[in-house]
Amino acid sequence: MLETTIAGSLPKPAWLAEPQKLWAPWRLKGDGLARGKQDAALVWLKEQEAAGIDIVSDGEQFRIHFVHGFLEHVAGIDWDLKTKMGIRDNRYTVEVPTVTQAVTRPKAVHVEEARFLRAHTERALKWTLPGPMTICDTIADGHYGRRADMAMAFAALLNEEARELEDAGVDVIQFDEPAFNVFFDDVRDWGVAALDRAVEGLSAKTAVHICYGYGIKANIDWKETLGSEWRQYEEIFPAINAGKVGQVSLECANARVPMELIRLLPDKEILVGAIDVATDEVESPEAVARVIAEAARHAEVARIQPCTNCGMAPLARDVAAGKLYALVAGAEKARQALG
Ligand code: ZN
Repeated sequence: MLETTIAGSLPKPAWLAEPQKLWAPWRLKGDGLARGKQDAALVWLKEQEAAGIDIVSDGEQFRIHFVHGFLEHVAGIDWDLKTKMGIRDNRYTVEVPTVTQAVTRPKAVHVEEARFLRAHTERALKWTLPGPMTICDTIADGHYGRRADMAMAFAALLNEEARELEDAGVDVIQFDEPAFNVFFDDVRDWGVAALDRAVEGLSAKTAVHICYGYGIKANIDWKETLGSEWRQYEEIFPAINAGKVGQVSLECANARVPMELIRLLPDKEILVGAIDVATDEVESPEAVARVIAEAARHAEVARIQPCTNCGMAPLARDVAAGKLYALVAGAEKARQALG
């Protein structure tokens, strides 16, 4: 009961990439880089085990960016043809690569990495992939004409990858869909359908992570515009509940999300974000337990997994590690309180 897990990323060690900087370039090259990524993943695997996290992950040590890390291995994309795009409904303006042909996946992207982790832990293993809608909001379309069609094409590739990850021994495959919190009509029209395509035929557990982003300035400023109650989830939960994905990973700690909204997900396991990634302050176990207890008022405890709000990549390494221990201690407190 109340098995703990993390939403995704953890900080890179300073010898691998500049610390406390999102999307920092690698500090190693060639074989040294390949070995360095494995070593970093191993450090965090063992740190998660030591903290007592039940469902562990690579902490995204093998990639710089949660979307481009997958897209780099997809054919049909012109990386030199940059298009300026206001992504997440103009929250950030960035130059993105352009899809110029039908996309294909010439070979597996993360499967070797997953095998490496599988060989080094007995714990349940989670792997995260970008969701099809978020991919389509992070790349320009010069081929498909409709975002929904491009999303289905990427969903098919994600499904191929997920099936191979499952064969490699991954227990939970999570799709990160921050774009779900922005394009409500699209989520209902085709976002959930694309996600259903991505999880088709999997026997591993499946999850979708929907958050308010990393604790960076653009997101903190955006949150200030969202009013006293964040009801974004209300728009999309009914569609998600009707979809195939098994778990929904949410941002709850220090969020202005009314917890009662999780009642709109009666058929899903709920990963309750009980660790705020937008502050360096490490939560007390009591604070974590309070978030879990509040969630337990609206969903059966058996459907709740305490989790982090989002990725911890931009945090200092010791802060992130401290938050892992706080999450586990808080879950233990909640377990005692809830029986
Ligand atoms: Zn997130």
